[in-house]
Amino acid sequence: MIGLISATAAGAAGARRVASAWPGRTRVYEGPVGDAVRRAFAECEQLVCFLATGAVVRLVAPLLADKATDPGIVCVDEGGRFAVSLVGGHGGGANALTHEVGDLLGAEPVVTTATDAAGVPGLDTLGFPVEGDVAGVSRALLDGGPVALHAELAWPLPPLPGLSPTPAAEGAYAIRVTDRAVGPAAREVVLRPPSLVVGVGASKGAPVDEVLGLVEDALRDAGLSAKSVAELATVDAKAGEPGILGAAERLGVPLVTYPAAELAEVAVPNPSDAPLAAVGTPSVAEAAALVRGGELLVPKRKSAARPAMATCAVVRRPARGRLAVVGLGPGARDLLTPRAKDELRRASVLVGLDQYVDQIRDLLRPGTRVLESGLGAEEERARTAVAEARRGQAVALIGSGDAGVYAMASPALAEASDDIDVVGVPGVTAALAAGAILGAPLGHDHVSISLSDLHTPWEVIERRVRAAAEADLVVTFYNPRSRGRDWQLPKALAILAGHREPATPVGVVRNASRPDESSRITTLAGLDPATVDMMTVVTVGNTATREIAGRMVTPRGYRWQEEPR
Ligand code: SAH
Repeated sequence: MIGLISATAAGAAGARRVASAWPGRTRVYEGPVGDAVRRAFAECEQLVCFLATGAVVRLVAPLLADKATDPGIVCVDEGGRFAVSLVGGHGGGANALTHEVGDLLGAEPVVTTATDAAGVPGLDTLGFPVEGDVAGVSRALLDGGPVALHAELAWPLPPLPGLSPTPAAEGAYAIRVTDRAVGPAAREVVLRPPSLVVGVGASKGAPVDEVLGLVEDALRDAGLSAKSVAELATVDAKAGEPGILGAAERLGVPLVTYPAAELAEVAVPNPSDAPLAAVGTPSVAEAAALVRGGELLVPKRKSAARPAMATCAVVRRPARGRLAVVGLGPGARDLLTPRAKDELRRASVLVGLDQYVDQIRDLLRPGTRVLESGLGAEEERARTAVAEARRGQAVALIGSGDAGVYAMASPALAEASDDIDVVGVPGVTAALAAGAILGAPLGHDHVSISLSDLHTPWEVIERRVRAAAEADLVVTFYNPRSRGRDWQLPKALAILAGHREPATPVGVVRNASRPDESSRITTLAGLDPATVDMMTVVTVGNTATREIAGRMVTPRGYRWQEEPR
């Protein structure tokens, strides 16, 4: 039982929220705070005190006996901004509870125990349904294990320090990854990967209960968990069939449909004439379940009703690895998005250029496998990332700025096939980071051009610069100049100068958002290319761009900003 104690109105509101979220687990202690804390300490395994840490320390100090038996105590501040693990971090489960309370109240969990700084992921945040002793297993992971891992299926998991690859001793903590309807045993957490695809067929007007009952019976008889069902699948012609839609909705999974012609190509054990006549494929349930590959666990079966109006088949699809293509932003930590951070912490394998890995190394979970390589190894990095994802790993492929802008996303996705999940996380690209420093240079139509002729012939680059010049686009040059490439920038600027005044503002930003950031605004005529290097972007204004109060501004052309005539 978790005892909830509060003193103020705000504290009482927090306590009520916890109590209503976890009704069977909590008890609210009313009355004078000292008494309430003492009673809760005697009666509960855990306490959440909506009180100052100092007050709680003074109240419980005389009561503390042994960390093996003392309750775990969490304090939440008056503003509900922090949940602090105060006493019994491991033995009393306060650390795990701190995270749970933090999630519930939107409070930052504060844990000062050494192993927790290690950043063990919450078992309920892995993206899979989870059952069993989450608190106990989390606590064991926080303690550094050992926790046995029984992965029946190789779905991508983040690194979990404390996991032991050896079989668990009797009674040890364990994590099981399975779609079978087993467990959880005592001290065990069962994670349900989305591994099952249920193919369904139904005659017109088949009732929801008949379809759903059939699916549930099929799963139960095969010893499979409904929590692992990723989707229902059927033929396009049945996309609007209420019985199938209703069953998908009640199972909480999407319905995917395929053209009859595609299903007709799938080799199935039990084809028949009826669906061939009705929808144009000899199999609906089996073919729709098998069309993306996998192992047929439950061959076609019919519902028990007479006449049977529904069929279903269950397939276990191969584990799908995950490739997250993550933009790190231009450099500053606070320009790295929270989503990027989450993806980095979710990855078990990180692939990237060594200097970018250094940028975020402290964010990685212990145990993350880091595959870093030097400049120029793009193709190898792309291949490695995709190959690791195909092996079922959770991979993060990183790039500075946005990973899709002159970076790793395109070579990686050119390698990738549809047997992995791909997630893109956008980042603040250099042009935007520089734009914000310069003022508002990108306020009207603009373009980015890379001046690197390593992979692009110069004629192509020149044609694009010319087009941008003629179209009066604001231009941001990436890769503007390096030691071996010094004539391209002057050439490109000369092309723009053919269509713009010599006084056109040009912004030069070096190391945007990095510690040695510098920027200046000059003009097309005034820019000294020797001051530009590979850490720099150069933004050239269009014919309307002005320098106003030391800032570069490209007007949007609003009428209300025109000079009165
Ligand atoms: N994916 C990156 C671009 C990679 S190309 C992005 O979206 O930003 C590399 C070029 O980007 C560099 O030569 C430089 O021109 C530019 N660049 C990247 N980061 C920068 C920064 N912080 N400040 C200025 N220019 C930067």
